[in-house]
Amino acid sequence: MKTLEVLWFGAATILLTALASRGETKVVADHNDGSRATGEFKFKNVPSPSTDDAAAKAKFTIVAGTRDPAGADLDKLNDGRLPTVDNTFYSEIDVISGSATEATQTVAAAIPPLLIKSADGKCDITIDTSGATDLKEWAETKLAPVLAEWFPRIVAILPSDGYTPPASFSVAIRPGRGVAATGGTRVTANANWLRRELEREAIGALLHEEVHVIQLYGRRGGNRSEGGRRLPGWLVEGIPDYIRWFLYEPQSHGADEVWMKGQNFSRVRYDGSYRQSANFLNWVTEKYDKDIVAKLNAAARAGKYGDEIWQEKSGKTAEELGNEWKAQLAKKLDIEWNPPAAGSNSNNPAPTAPTSNAATNK
Ligand SMILES: [Zn+2]
Repeated sequence: MKTLEVLWFGAATILLTALASRGETKVVADHNDGSRATGEFKFKNVPSPSTDDAAAKAKFTIVAGTRDPAGADLDKLNDGRLPTVDNTFYSEIDVISGSATEATQTVAAAIPPLLIKSADGKCDITIDTSGATDLKEWAETKLAPVLAEWFPRIVAILPSDGYTPPASFSVAIRPGRGVAATGGTRVTANANWLRRELEREAIGALLHEEVHVIQLYGRRGGNRSEGGRRLPGWLVEGIPDYIRWFLYEPQSHGADEVWMKGQNFSRVRYDGSYRQSANFLNWVTEKYDKDIVAKLNAAARAGKYGDEIWQEKSGKTAEELGNEWKAQLAKKLDIEWNPPAAGSNSNNPAPTAPTSNAATNK
């Protein structure tokens, strides 16, 4: 889940409202987080993103503040690309308010961002704590070594033909909402949340974002206009959580059976995203295809996702595998569960897109 992107849609609505009725501006903004932040982008006070409303051909102007050049251009606001099953926009614009610009620059100048190299020397990682100076030492001594060490590891876990990993990425730590979000090679993390999670989830959550930086599906794999098939959102989030919970910190038991015991089993789905899908990916890796994650990732970058990837070693579709996985999980957890009848999906409740885990794991 990407709180920031939800926020910018709110901003888009503000601009649109202002343009529609000059002189009589009514500002409406809305925001979803936690379990309300689903791929449907349904808001209480503003309409959902659409490609055929008045904003589709609107010309956007920033009336106060300046665009942060590190973000996207304004035309991203109505480029016609909407999230589908995923609850993720791949681009965002950032506007620095007129009054905040000077203050931000003054602080930033006082505390230069930390610049480190990934362990293989191929990627420059910048960590900016100027918005949360108390986290500077933690970022240097705890976070930076993990991001540096894991960059080449994640690249090796997710290889594909012709892929070049980004030569740089940045992490900005500052007070905000939610947990963290990634747009392209820019990670933003909420300092307020990190402070509470320093001894628990802070580093793992940022490792998850580092995987997003390396996935790079936004450029080609996500381009349906080239006839490509996008990786479904539950895998875009399931892959980072698989790497995080099963390879980086298996000792935390954050997505394995220990975690699963605390879940509402009837709602658990292979395509439930995040930790549920991470558990499913780990099961397929162990039972059928040790390269499944690498294959899914390579297909995503090439825009060639499809059920044949699952079938290659197992002979089963994702859904068939999902039922088998859930049946075995039920047995292990000693829970009574009957798989849906063949060809019917009715016993499977619709995914409770981003479930409770999304609140702590964007
Ligand atoms: Zn994510």
